Amino acid sequence: MNYNAWFECDLGCKFPLTDIIYRCNTCDGLLQVQHDMDALKQRSADDWKSLFEERYMRTQYPYGSGVWGKKEIVCPIIDDENIISMYEGGTNLFWAERFGKQLGVSDLWIKQCGNSHTGSFKDLGMTVLVSMVKQIIAESGNIRAVMCASTGDTSASLAAYASAAGIPAIILLPKEKVTREQLIQPIANGALTLSLETDFDGCMAIVQRLAEREDFYLANSINSLRIEGQKTISIEIVQQFDWEVPDWVIIPGGNLGNVSALGLGFLMMLELGMIDKLPRIACAQAERANPLYRSYQTGFTEFKAITAQSTQATAIQIGNPVSIHRAIRTLQKFDGIVDQASEDELADAAARADRTGLFNCPHTGVALAVLIKMIERKQITKNDRVIVISTANGLKFPDFKVDYHNVTPNTPPPRYLNTPIELEANFDNVLRQIDKHLDV
Ligand SMILES: *Cc1c(COP(=O)(O)O)cnc(C)c1O
Ligand SMILES: [Zn+2]
Repeated sequence: MNYNAWFECDLGCKFPLTDIIYRCNTCDGLLQVQHDMDALKQRSADDWKSLFEERYMRTQYPYGSGVWGKKEIVCPIIDDENIISMYEGGTNLFWAERFGKQLGVSDLWIKQCGNSHTGSFKDLGMTVLVSMVKQIIAESGNIRAVMCASTGDTSASLAAYASAAGIPAIILLPKEKVTREQLIQPIANGALTLSLETDFDGCMAIVQRLAEREDFYLANSINSLRIEGQKTISIEIVQQFDWEVPDWVIIPGGNLGNVSALGLGFLMMLELGMIDKLPRIACAQAERANPLYRSYQTGFTEFKAITAQSTQATAIQIGNPVSIHRAIRTLQKFDGIVDQASEDELADAAARADRTGLFNCPHTGVALAVLIKMIERKQITKNDRVIVISTANGLKFPDFKVDYHNVTPNTPPPRYLNTPIELEANFDNVLRQIDKHLDV
């Protein structure tokens, strides 16, 4: 069977996926990847499920990848020899049993998307984009480099995949707004790393101008090839539950490509008959970078870009999200909600959940804080199955945790503070400390 996919704007103009194009050249609208659904429907839902099961996390390259195991519905036109895969997806669904008990819910799961090659869920989409670039180059396209503006995770992912493909990468980062760990990733992978005195939105404005040149390929999520890879999150979650659909999915949002991708995966499964209902989606924003939340407050009738203020959730510190309209459309289809978390709320939520075995990044903290509010409001009830998307590995954000577990003079200690105790290497002292700790 031959499956096909192409870029398409809202008005129906079509372009090949190998074109270097991000907006429709007629109406300037964003492009989405469209699939030949009629061809895909020739295969039954059960046959798709068993095909995906057969390949899942096995060794036949590249089909063991959570993304490429679903190649036909992700990006069927890429030749296998052009695929750059690092075994994306296949991440653990952590049953948050203890944390859920504390909150009064029993079916709470954290999708650990940060357990990935570069430590964030951005790898899911980047494997598709970089593989396409390799295909374009192989088909004689003249691409000199791939490039992106980033809050730290997209750049790490792009640099890794580009260097595996042998394609030069150009990274634009807001100076001092990404962690040391995120900064060193593209440097180690040999990318040209430009640290600009601006914020993410400022980097984005420059990279969009660079993208007017045909020989630079833009890897930001305005490029919907990445969305195709990211949408496998929803498919993988449902697959991990033997094809049962959860009640709620909570996801942190910044540039808002991912909330749209999450929706897309569910919609595609519904259309192919693999599922028969949709979950509800909650998008979680940092209060200091909340343009979607503000729009939600107006019933999505208005949207205003804002200047994002500094937040610990740096990967979602975005005031002018490029996928705003896609995200609103998605939330409307999924009876979705938007909520926000303050700096204290996101840090406390992350730290509280850490005490039950997790090690959360600040963005996951935003999602967990929103989870707590939704339970308090009884929007989520005891037996709802809830999935929280953990978007990055906590190890990429050590200062977030170090600063939390640190006593600062003249400020009240944080609720879940834990500090190391320094003491003499003396057996009795050590035992006394242990007893004191366990007796509390
Ligand atoms: C990219 C990113 C997000 C937000 O995804 P968007 O598509 O920009 O909304 C959240 N958390 C982390 C860790 C990210 O890297
Ligand atoms: Zn158009």
